[in-house]
Amino acid sequence: MTAFWAEPDFDAHECVQLVHDRASGLTAIIAIHSTHCGPAAGGTRFWHYADPAGAMRDALRLSRGMSYKNAMAGLPMGGGKAVILADPAGTKTPAMLAAFGDAVEALGGRYVTAEDVGITEADMVAVSQRTAHVSGLPVAGEGSAGGDPGPFTAMGIFLGIKAAVRHKLGKDSVAGVHVALQGTGSVGGGVARLLAQDGAKLTLADINAARAAELARELGASVAASDAIMSTACDVFSPNALGAILDDEGIARLDCAIVAGGANNQLAKAGHGAQLSARGILYAPDYVINAGGIISVALEYLARRAGAPADINEVRKRLAQIPGRLESIWQDSDATGTSPDVVADRMAQALIGRG
Ligand code: NAD
Repeated sequence: MTAFWAEPDFDAHECVQLVHDRASGLTAIIAIHSTHCGPAAGGTRFWHYADPAGAMRDALRLSRGMSYKNAMAGLPMGGGKAVILADPAGTKTPAMLAAFGDAVEALGGRYVTAEDVGITEADMVAVSQRTAHVSGLPVAGEGSAGGDPGPFTAMGIFLGIKAAVRHKLGKDSVAGVHVALQGTGSVGGGVARLLAQDGAKLTLADINAARAAELARELGASVAASDAIMSTACDVFSPNALGAILDDEGIARLDCAIVAGGANNQLAKAGHGAQLSARGILYAPDYVINAGGIISVALEYLARRAGAPADINEVRKRLAQIPGRLESIWQDSDATGTSPDVVADRMAQALIGRG
């Protein structure tokens, strides 16, 4: 046990709940990193892990990331995350989601859940039958706040990429800027559409090659093989798939001026941010640029608790603050020679009382 608490990824989590429901077969981890700023908010990931240690590592790293993300977005929420350990076939049943809802409810509001990779809006509706501490539920009408966080995340990333292009390349528009985009799912697909509308040149890749090809056809973009996208010569590499891609080998392969995308935990280890800086690559800290979804999810949750609809204008106002937050991190980084990830971590740690 001592060894577990000494693990770097544990990072003084307030609570780590191991969940097993024999009847449904649900196995899950709910990690609550910090409730300093409010109830711990963060989505649920449904994923098949090669081993349970990998699931624990993911839960802990994602949960800490949520503490930092929510604090930096100025939300009155702490940070937490859940992972449901899927079998190799990805079996997901109503009974499992019900048992997961019961586990969230048992935490009495200390943890608020929503969608993440592998979890749909319909799954969250199922979870909401068993707990009130859930968000990302369907909302009425186009342009309403709340619901699937993907489009809000994508909008924040789009604004963040424009800020990075301004800071690094001195351009006020992404027209003609070449973006190589990894992952064309909910977030990556949304980012690609917004960039295409503004005239960016796009190269897309996904391990689901048909998905990337279909989007490329829609947007008039090029496609690259998923193992070639990181070495594509471009202005911006935008990771929107899974984390830990920026390791020694990944960073050495990059041929870009900027890394800015929505995937959580892009840096494999502390120190990889400094490697990007040493290569002259501007990095947009992941939990700052991808906060759009949690902004919507948190405001939806808080509004529902208050018995009112979430205010779309408030969501938009907070999304519009993402570029300024990134710019202040980059300015601090430029002035101090400290890499942007470390600057952001220090700001976030101060906000959650762990400076
Ligand atoms: P998604 O499941 O809709 O899409 C992910 C896509 O990435 C899929 O199309 C998948 O085939 C592809 N992919 C997986 N591994 C790949 C690889 N090695 N190379 C290329 N493509 C690969 O998930 P999403 O909701 O779009 O989330 C994407 C990332 O953004 C995740 O890291 C997630 O944690 C993060 N994120 C999502 C949100 C949100 O609102 N959905 C918010 C913040 C962060």
